[in-house]
Amino acid sequence: MVEDVTEQMRIGDRMHRAEQLSAMGLLAAGVAYELKMPLNLMTVDLNFVENNIAEDSPMRDYVNSMKDELSRMKQISEHLLNLSKPEDSEQEVFEAHKLITSHPIQITLNRLQKNGFNVVTHYSDNTVKIRAIKNQLVQVLLHLIANAEEAMPEKGTLRISVDTLETANGPYASISIEDTGIGISKENIKKIFEPFFTTKGEKSTGLGLMVTYSTIETLGGTIGVKSKPGEGTTFRIVLPGVRE
Ligand code: ADP
Ligand code: MG
Repeated sequence: MVEDVTEQMRIGDRMHRAEQLSAMGLLAAGVAYELKMPLNLMTVDLNFVENNIAEDSPMRDYVNSMKDELSRMKQISEHLLNLSKPEDSEQEVFEAHKLITSHPIQITLNRLQKNGFNVVTHYSDNTVKIRAIKNQLVQVLLHLIANAEEAMPEKGTLRISVDTLETANGPYASISIEDTGIGISKENIKKIFEPFFTTKGEKSTGLGLMVTYSTIETLGGTIGVKSKPGEGTTFRIVLPGVRE
């Protein structure tokens, strides 16, 4: 296992951050909502310009670049809107490992294996039951897997484990996603859950882990990270189990 370079975030930090996030989520969603209309109008106008300039016009490069930037702005505002969007699906009770055996996760793991990654999964077939919107948690895992893949440009091992923790407060489900990628520096690890923090340049929004964080908080769970630069990173989600 990778060595700890940072402490997991302490409970107090988590609470504080959760409050900040929910206020931020509402504000962000409000702004994103207001931006939707002007962004759509600009897209319509830009399409008009595109259709009315000569095929070989030097303006075409500028139009294309504006289209790229517009679609990036739309992507960002959609992400922000999703933050506080009430989920229309129902919560259900299911065994934690059913997330891993779900179709979207299996397809993704198969693709990684085909592309030369070593994929290891570890779980029993009677893990503790959790209450959640399954698809929302599948999205969270898909995002953590995507981050792991992006952290391993030279390939490597992705390990996903689901365990049941018995505590005095009842059972919990623990889900970890471990990679052997580039790792996260001590300086950056404090910022990864912040909105717009990314080390991946223009193409990335830096919103994935923030959305992940607020999804897990909403379920009364916690997410922690351990990393060692050059060796790898482990994200661990702990969710309250349903007592039977
Ligand atoms: P994005 O993927 O768009 O950059 P995220 O919120 O998903 O945004 O992640 C924020 C940052 O956290 C990433 O840019 C990267 O620096 C770091 N990060 C997240 N997951 C990993 C990982 N598994 N290994 C290394 N760095 C990671
Ligand atoms: Mg990401």
